[in-house]
Amino acid sequence: MEKTNKPKNQKFSNFIKKNLYLILMIVCVIAIATMVAVTYAVKRKNGEEIVDVSFEEQPTQQTPVNTDPPVEIEPEPVAIVEEVLFSIPLEGETVGVFANDTLVYNATLNQWATHEAYDVAAEAGTEVKCVYGGKVESITTSVLRGTEVVVLHENGMKTIYSLLGSDVNVTIGQSVKKGDVIGKIAETGTFEKHKGPHLHLEVWDKDGEKIDPVQFFESSDK
Ligand SMILES: [Zn+2]
Repeated sequence: MEKTNKPKNQKFSNFIKKNLYLILMIVCVIAIATMVAVTYAVKRKNGEEIVDVSFEEQPTQQTPVNTDPPVEIEPEPVAIVEEVLFSIPLEGETVGVFANDTLVYNATLNQWATHEAYDVAAEAGTEVKCVYGGKVESITTSVLRGTEVVVLHENGMKTIYSLLGSDVNVTIGQSVKKGDVIGKIAETGTFEKHKGPHLHLEVWDKDGEKIDPVQFFESSDK
């Protein structure tokens, strides 16, 4: 038995050795498979967490979409159009305000009439400056209004500087900007002579309606 067992044991041990490799390989495969399975399981968990994060990001992407409607509110261009600011034409005392719905007595003409302008008194020779940029449209002289310069602005408005001396500083067609000297105060015009030498400033809107110049002055200039 021993003789027969020995070779059998040897054979068996040889088989065991061979089986051990196989077993080791199987164990390794099982181990690898287990590791792979665990790895996938972990990845799934992590994947779920990432998915949760991505779902959290989507609402944040929708938030900017919800902010789009406010962007559609664009009243700013209108505000820019309305933002016409005049600089003062000269330093002086206000001797006449805009009055288109009430009659003002004109001592010079001895009559009641509307006064659709803004009057600033100053000594003769005082420089009158452009209140808003534009182009000189016309320069005329009359007994009543003295020398009168009309400046046309890009928005269609016009500013009219009346009761100036004939020695104006601009020519027809000349581009003028805010602060440019247009002419000088004089005692030429007669229709408001009772107020003394002064600038009679009118503002016409794009439709030719006379409007109150004061509304365009900065508060500090009024
Ligand atoms: Zn006036």
